Amino acid sequence: MLRQPRRGPTPSNWASWKPFGIGEEHPNNFAEVGRAIWENRDRAGYAWRILNQGVCDGCALGTTGMHDWTIDGIHLCNVRLRLLRLNTMPAMDGALLGDVAALRRLSGAELRDLGRLPYPMLRRAGEPGFTRIGWDEALALAADRIRAAGPSRIGFYVTSRGIPNESYYAAQKAVRAIGTNSIDSSARLCHSPSTFGLKEALGVAATTCSYSDLIGTDLIVFLGSNVANNQPVMMKYLHLAKKAGTKVAVVNPYREPGMERYWIPSTVESALFGTRIDDRFFQINIGGDVAFLSGVLKHVLEQGWLDEEFASTHTTGLDELRAELDTADWESLERLAGASREEMLALARTVGEAKGAVFVWSMGVTQHENGEDNVRAIVNLALSRGFVGREGCGLMPIRGHSGVQGGAEMGCYATSFPGGLAVDEENAAKLSRQWGFEVPSEPGMTTPEMLAAAGHGELDVLFAAGGNFTEVLPDSASTEGALERIPLRVHMDIVASSQMLVDPAEEVILLPAMTRYEIPGGVTETSTERRVIFSPEIPGPRIDEARPEWEVMTELAARVRPEAAEQVRFAGTAEIRDEIGRLVANYEGIENLREAGDSFQYGGPMLCAGPSFPTPDGKAHFNRVSIPDSRPEDGRLVVSTRRGKQFNSMVQESHDSLTAAAREAVLINEHDARRLGLGQGDELLLRSDVGELRGHVHLAPIAPGNIQVHWPEGNALIAGGHLSPEADMPDYNARVTVEPLPASAQPSPDPSAN
Ligand code: SF4
Repeated sequence: MLRQPRRGPTPSNWASWKPFGIGEEHPNNFAEVGRAIWENRDRAGYAWRILNQGVCDGCALGTTGMHDWTIDGIHLCNVRLRLLRLNTMPAMDGALLGDVAALRRLSGAELRDLGRLPYPMLRRAGEPGFTRIGWDEALALAADRIRAAGPSRIGFYVTSRGIPNESYYAAQKAVRAIGTNSIDSSARLCHSPSTFGLKEALGVAATTCSYSDLIGTDLIVFLGSNVANNQPVMMKYLHLAKKAGTKVAVVNPYREPGMERYWIPSTVESALFGTRIDDRFFQINIGGDVAFLSGVLKHVLEQGWLDEEFASTHTTGLDELRAELDTADWESLERLAGASREEMLALARTVGEAKGAVFVWSMGVTQHENGEDNVRAIVNLALSRGFVGREGCGLMPIRGHSGVQGGAEMGCYATSFPGGLAVDEENAAKLSRQWGFEVPSEPGMTTPEMLAAAGHGELDVLFAAGGNFTEVLPDSASTEGALERIPLRVHMDIVASSQMLVDPAEEVILLPAMTRYEIPGGVTETSTERRVIFSPEIPGPRIDEARPEWEVMTELAARVRPEAAEQVRFAGTAEIRDEIGRLVANYEGIENLREAGDSFQYGGPMLCAGPSFPTPDGKAHFNRVSIPDSRPEDGRLVVSTRRGKQFNSMVQESHDSLTAAAREAVLINEHDARRLGLGQGDELLLRSDVGELRGHVHLAPIAPGNIQVHWPEGNALIAGGHLSPEADMPDYNARVTVEPLPASAQPSPDPSAN
């Protein structure tokens, strides 16, 4: 039974007695509101309607207007406010795109500030920039090239930038009508190991509980997740959870300041005195998750904290896992985890004494070469206590972007069909019957595979709806080189981005996209807690020639395969929802969503309730994990990338107000810095096997032997092609040497310039 938050003040949870945290480092959310009002002053009414009626296009917590289904009161954060201008800005002067060399000198933020893409444009090899073309010419050119290339030499990518379920569904259907499964989405780059690990263990591939399970349960464990930065309204949920007596444990290499204490502007008590968030912090090495969690589980088993009844009745695989853990020696676990066995015991005791717990993780867990095993280790620990399928219990791979949950579930995935069905003969045959055209049965190219094929000269057409490969993928130089080899690139987006400016091998087409708020008929998104939410079309100014992705990609497919045109075209988003409701598992009912506020939570508030697991044997599966030896023996440090004040690769400020770190900051432990002869602010050079990055020392409570740099700047250090084995997740970590630079050394170009 979940406890209710205390009504009166709870001074024991206060972060500081100084009103409004004066003198403390934290975001000034009141200033963010003022800034949003100023930025959107020319279209204030439209901006207000978007906030008031639309579903937030920021993270995947999910809203309807400025409310949600978890708490009373306002649901609004600075992430959404910073994104608002992208939706309200007018079109750019298209003539600016006539001079690509000049635009290449602009930062990503400056490119965005130019305004929305106004109309379709074309740039041929040798031309200095883009010139205007019509939609018909653009689609005819793309269709001709796709037809000539054949299904094996084309690739499609759809990002998560506010893109709704309807566009994802129609896009993947269109691409499959063209004859390939080579369509991927940004969901792969966030949580593909989570989807894989959950499906394998529980038979479901999404968060098993609701946000409301966080408030009043015994324990929440955050692993590799900084919700203070990425899902700010989650802090409001945590404030209430703390008032209900919920304990919060955080497992991470760096003690994120925002996870220690936070000031919530719309909650008077927290706005005044802040909220202390983590009750216990467990510091581990980058890549030490499996070793640490294996040590924790070993303690749970040895101390008799296993939920015997749950394990014997509802699970399989524990004996094999136990035998493996029995052979793991504590010294190795401690060395690899970067934490002592006593620390592991402390978390084991916390988990072992809790009657309910929710485990929340994010890309600190998934973006590793062994991302799947990291997820398996979390699931194993949760299963040892039976923390699934009950109130106050759950597994929550929290999503950072509003489109990723739906994108994967709609089948915008090279390796699965809508509803998460495997790409195989049986499912392809079934879909072929339902759709009325032949659906390919071989998995398509994932995003990293498309880029690899491009690098080898084996990709003739790339259609990217959003995204910015040159910034988000490791090894940007190779990525740019690969893009330069693709004969035709089509970039559909709302604003200009640096990948559009990469020189054409033959042609590059730009297509202007609508925002989710402009799409006639309204659209839906799916939140982290599996809530499918309707976002209505919002009346307001429009970019005359912008079109929705769903319409463009289906029209393209109709031109490539005229014989399938009738099957692939839709009359509008309502018709797409009808088809999703009929064909996609869990989405029955989406066809009834018509107005702002309409939603449903597929699977109900809780998956696996009972417990009951939709696996072939009806049981949850403990899975063995390999404990990777990720620690360098040669004195190098392990670096991972982190987010600052940004949304995806869109950097919004040169300083992160949660950490006080500048974009060029290298977060390093004081002990390591001293050993290297470095002090706060000193210039340094990081060198990995593939690249270099200049920065300056930012002393931080990070585990010794580990450092963090901001992403995407840190991509300079990350090798491409290191993928997790089952989910193809790129590894965003590297080993580096650290060299102090003399004070006179040239500073690096401003890395906020992206
Ligand atoms: S927490 Fe996420 S869903 Fe909520 S307002 Fe902020 S960005 Fe939007």
